[in-house]
Amino acid sequence: MLDDVKHIILVLSGKGGVGKSTVSTQLALTMKEKGHKVGLLDIDLCGPSVPYLLQLESHDVHQADGGWVPVYTDESQSLAVMSIGFLLNDRNTAVVWRGPKKTAMVKQFLTDVCWGNLDYLIIDTPPGTSDEHITVMENLKSVKLDGAIIVTTPQQVSTEDVRKEITFCKKTGIPILGIIENMSGFVCPHCSDCTNIFSKGGGESLSEMNKIPFLGTLPIDPRIGQLLGKACVKELPDSTSAKVFCEIVKQISE
Ligand code: ADP
Repeated sequence: MLDDVKHIILVLSGKGGVGKSTVSTQLALTMKEKGHKVGLLDIDLCGPSVPYLLQLESHDVHQADGGWVPVYTDESQSLAVMSIGFLLNDRNTAVVWRGPKKTAMVKQFLTDVCWGNLDYLIIDTPPGTSDEHITVMENLKSVKLDGAIIVTTPQQVSTEDVRKEITFCKKTGIPILGIIENMSGFVCPHCSDCTNIFSKGGGESLSEMNKIPFLGTLPIDPRIGQLLGKACVKELPDSTSAKVFCEIVKQISE
């Protein structure tokens, strides 16, 4: 039930492991910190990491008269989360499903979850462009989809795959809100020198070439992986990552 959801944003990536779920969760947490009511829907059916990243793994989803009640991160109920991870008995269970079953599950996530009033619903998608993405597009046709944020690392091997995401968005008519370059440079905590371990600028030049907004560069910061359920804007307010997430939320809400 998406009737009372004001804005929907997809988070896409060409490859796995580029930080898509990290960006989705930190974006949701930043929006929450800024006073928005947020939903985070994890449709990465074969690799759901949102329950872990938000430290909600022990939670179950309940069935109410109106549908599935999402898991809330705290009593304020300002961040609602839904993931297949909440429906599995064991987090190590592998989801080995063919297309139709995946399609049915994603459809159910979009139609049967009681999201309530939300300012933003962020949808964390699996890498690439597969059944899950097509199902989302088919089922959101009648709903206002604001657009997609694409996450890439700076290496060519990742940016090459992003081109496919851009083509997918163009073909399916999804506006691209912008590209985020993640794991771009490591700032030494001792001497503050920045080493561009995976090169730099791949995401930005891709943005320029395709005339897509560039949303920012997130450095490699081991603290990001340790936040688990905590917002970097609150825990690490002076970090580059916190500044980038604040700027992205500002740009999106303008
Ligand atoms: P994806 O959703 O694209 O598969 P994840 O968000 O699960 O990627 O991130 C993969 C791993 O990289 C995780 O261990 C995460 O903590 C780590 N990671 C993501 N972004 C950063 C970053 N900017 N700095 C350091 N580690 C990061």
